[in-house]
Amino acid sequence: MSTPFLSVRDLHVHFSTEDGIVKAVDGLSFDIEAGKTLGIVGESGSGKSVTNLAILGLHDPANTEITGEVLLDGEDLLGVKEKRLETLRGNTMSMIFQDALASLSPYHTIGQQIGETYRKHTGASKKEARARAVEMLTRVGIPQPDIRVDDYPHQFSGGMRQRAMIAMALVCDPKLLIADEPTTALDVTVQAQIMDLLKDLQQQTGTSIIFITHDLGVIADIADEVLVMYGGRCVERGTKKEVLADPQHPYTWGLLGSMPTLDGPVDVPLTPIPGTPPSLLNPPTGCRFHPRCTFTEQVSGNRCVDETPELRLVDGRGAACHLTPEQRREFFTEFTAARTA
Ligand code: SF4
Repeated sequence: MSTPFLSVRDLHVHFSTEDGIVKAVDGLSFDIEAGKTLGIVGESGSGKSVTNLAILGLHDPANTEITGEVLLDGEDLLGVKEKRLETLRGNTMSMIFQDALASLSPYHTIGQQIGETYRKHTGASKKEARARAVEMLTRVGIPQPDIRVDDYPHQFSGGMRQRAMIAMALVCDPKLLIADEPTTALDVTVQAQIMDLLKDLQQQTGTSIIFITHDLGVIADIADEVLVMYGGRCVERGTKKEVLADPQHPYTWGLLGSMPTLDGPVDVPLTPIPGTPPSLLNPPTGCRFHPRCTFTEQVSGNRCVDETPELRLVDGRGAACHLTPEQRREFFTEFTAARTA
């Protein structure tokens, strides 16, 4: 692997609350190469979004303790001043959110909002910023961009607002784009268009992308590498092919079992993962997935409850589970047979 553009090392993000410390992210490490896409997948509350807000330096320092390293092109973002982060945000790194309507100001035109970001980071004139906004709207496929640039967000459809937000995020040609469930609120056709747009833009610009989602189907479309998060930790890592075709962790099997297959019979029922995600105020001991896992009795002793499974990676591949490789192979074969029978 070449030198990563972003390297996150042993990241912990803990929040102080009236009820105690919430360990939202607990010892997360990963790398992304320039021009590649890392898909981070997990349920709500798994720590996906918290991780990315920490990379961007958007947590409130008054009640958040962040430790570890976030190296962006060799610079540790956890050690820099807020002013430096402000320069990097929107310029070297930027983010698109799920809810474009809530993220865009209703009082300013789309062109003003794209242009404002551009002016802030480049010192361009208003005229230059407007021209750049039209150029960006053209790039993201907004029809009649020289007219629509003067529209307000409410005059755009949901898909067009999402495109406008992508235009705003990319206006300064960032090297890192964090996309937090950017297609969840859109219908399937528009979702596919936005994914194609992101892939095209990445090919043109070489931007690294972190794509956060709860949907493995979306991961299959866009990611190069995949990180599966559960209860604030990484439970499985690998290339997209490794994680989707040969998943090693019971939680990843659960995620797969709760989504439809393309190659199996249409009447196979979807199987939701039993139970709910863990409280991060009082997380379960041992493996955080153990209260929901149906394989705990296959592990000798009480290890799933008593002992935290380590994530040991070989060539970037691995899963944090006490099951032996032979057991995982056997159980995943059974799981696949049940889904395609
Ligand atoms: Fe299940 Fe135990 Fe593996 Fe955790 S370590 S996923 S509880 S079998």
